[in-house]
Amino acid sequence: MSAAASARTILTSLHEIMASRTHAQAKLNQVVETIGESLDSEVCSIYLLREGMLELFATRGLNQAAVHVTRLAVGEGLTGTIAQNIETLNLDEAATHPEFQYRPETGEEKFHSFAGVPIVRRERAIGVVNVQHIEPRKYEELEIEALQTVAMVLAELINNAGLVDEEQLESSSTASTGQETATGLELVKGLALGEAVFHQPRVQIEHTVAEDTEAERQRVYLAFDKMREQIDAMTGQAEFGIGGEHEQVLETYKMFAYDEGWSRRINEAIDSGLTAEAAIERVQQRTRMRMREIQDPLLQDRMHDLEDLANRLIRIVSGQLGTAAQKGLARDSILIAKNLGPAELLEYDKRRLKGVVLEEGSQTAHVVIVARAMGVPVVGRIRNLRGLVREGDTVLVDGDKATVTLRPGNGVLSAFEARFARKKEKQAAYAKLRDVEPFTRDGERIEVMMNAGLRDDMGMLAMTGADGIGLYRTEFQFLVSAQLPQRERQARLYRDVLDAAKGKKVVFRTVDIGGDKSLPYIQSENAKEDENPAMGWRALRLALEREGLMKVQARALLEGCAGRELNVMFPMVSEPWEFDAAKEVFDAQLAYLKKRKHQLPTAINYGVMLEVPSLAETLDQLLPRLKFVSIGTNDLTQFLFAADRANPMLAERYDWLSPSILRFLARVVQTCVGQPVDLGVCGEMGGRRLEALALIGLGIRRLSITPASVGQIKELVRKVDTKEIGDAMRGWLASPPANLREELIAWARSREIDVD
Ligand code: PEP
Ligand code: MG
Repeated sequence: MSAAASARTILTSLHEIMASRTHAQAKLNQVVETIGESLDSEVCSIYLLREGMLELFATRGLNQAAVHVTRLAVGEGLTGTIAQNIETLNLDEAATHPEFQYRPETGEEKFHSFAGVPIVRRERAIGVVNVQHIEPRKYEELEIEALQTVAMVLAELINNAGLVDEEQLESSSTASTGQETATGLELVKGLALGEAVFHQPRVQIEHTVAEDTEAERQRVYLAFDKMREQIDAMTGQAEFGIGGEHEQVLETYKMFAYDEGWSRRINEAIDSGLTAEAAIERVQQRTRMRMREIQDPLLQDRMHDLEDLANRLIRIVSGQLGTAAQKGLARDSILIAKNLGPAELLEYDKRRLKGVVLEEGSQTAHVVIVARAMGVPVVGRIRNLRGLVREGDTVLVDGDKATVTLRPGNGVLSAFEARFARKKEKQAAYAKLRDVEPFTRDGERIEVMMNAGLRDDMGMLAMTGADGIGLYRTEFQFLVSAQLPQRERQARLYRDVLDAAKGKKVVFRTVDIGGDKSLPYIQSENAKEDENPAMGWRALRLALEREGLMKVQARALLEGCAGRELNVMFPMVSEPWEFDAAKEVFDAQLAYLKKRKHQLPTAINYGVMLEVPSLAETLDQLLPRLKFVSIGTNDLTQFLFAADRANPMLAERYDWLSPSILRFLARVVQTCVGQPVDLGVCGEMGGRRLEALALIGLGIRRLSITPASVGQIKELVRKVDTKEIGDAMRGWLASPPANLREELIAWARSREIDVD
């Protein structure tokens, strides 16, 4: 008999047994008889987890007196090992296995061969099903396959019969898998505790045995078609997978999606009587087991891609397509994802979202900027994240140390609470500086402004005591909207923002769409082929060509700021004419409003972001037309180093404190000296203490930073002497030390300036 056929026979019998009206124990007794008979085994036993122990619930062939008496800890004996490692054992001579333990009450001494399979639910072993044989022979692969399929169905049946309760399952999980810590890359500082929630939740398979095999086959065919369509569509989308390695990933996805072997194996699993979902999972289990034996990191990466795809297929087949955001967060949560877009993150309930852990991610990816603005700690670059963490696990995110502790024990939890309390104290101390103006020790006033992008962010202005909004990312409203926001809606937002600012300065940046901030409703013809979206058709380049976009925004800004001062800043200006073209759009709208005698802003100040290096070369030409320049160090660094800011492979490669960046910035400062232009920095760099210190040393006197950093940067400012750090910086830039960061740390520490 083939594996499919023997599994099918057992499944049909199991189905009948479970549908019968006998009580649970009688059903289990029949189940072990059926399995034992079908696999020609003298013994078949089922152990189930009860109060953290694996208890013999039913057996054919062992002493019946041992039922509900023999109990093994997880990890104890062969059965315990199977449950602990969630692995199959197939031995011709059980006694030769190092974990073998003899239990006299069972009378199992006469049986030589042994095969056991874990019964898994929600990725945890809830029991084990074993078969034993008098002859010392290994079970054939086909028999093991059948046993594994049966174990999968048993998991569902046991659950439906209420033989294991969910609570037990939960408590067993902590017992069977202990604390684990993984180190990644610090993306947003801070501490957070919550339960793991997968951005793309794993589907819970409710039905494993098919009523109609042909119907299940059809469901899988359709799901494959849909999945292939999705993958093909992604290949056509340049912005897919902000991870940067997207091409390689897509190729692998495509290879798997069209892999005949994969679909054939799923078909065979359907032949054995499983539903479409169960068949996909069954094949996946088998692949997982094989892969576990191969310790090749490259293959494991591929395995991860296949897992992703199998999950997608199960989601399609089961119709459970939503992300965790759509389902809503029930408790304090730590979001687990491979990567996310900024709009996806914004969909989450801010009150419940405590932290984010990503498999990819980089400092200046927009999703990270959004998380920082939300005050949500993020750790990135955790390899095999989805393999380590399980949905519902307690997770501790330490954004300061770039670590993630899974299932933390009591010791770690209390240390965490102590640190959390200290952090709160520190924050309370920063909060005390809210109304204190940040003057340096030598009396220089440093403007500490904050970056914002959502209406909700405005509350932080009063909370932090920032001097104003140095960068309002107007595209965020576009990102959270399903369609292009209309002029009136935009104008209302700008008005609300100014109201909330209560007279403090706000700098509105015109839309910066594109790069890692793509919008489904704004696609260019050639964006599809745009291989480098960060250097492509984005920001001002896009806005100037989409006449409607810039024109509408200009009108909305002029109307929204009527009767008040309008500060407008253009992103990604690469050459002076682009500034002129953008300003012309504003001038035309201004003339239109003037003609119709609408109320106008009391003053309009125009400025540019300096984030494309080419602008630095012609800045002197443009300066007379500008009121201010804001250096966007996020994009500037990616262009200076030719290193995609969203590419996780490059996330740690270059340092903001490298002489190349600092010398470049020093030249920009030099160009602006003596000119009636305000110069500031609005990239993420300015929100980090050490980097802010360096910027002050370069002569920067205005920083616009993430709100969470305002308190600590104010505190830093008060400890700095601008002349001292200016001299030190000049020295380092004239002849750069091997490690400027280390030099700066030592310099700061010697002056009791806290740099962490
Ligand atoms: C920058 O590039 O530094 C910047 C502040 O703009 P954004 O991060 O929105 O691209
Ligand atoms: Mg930028």
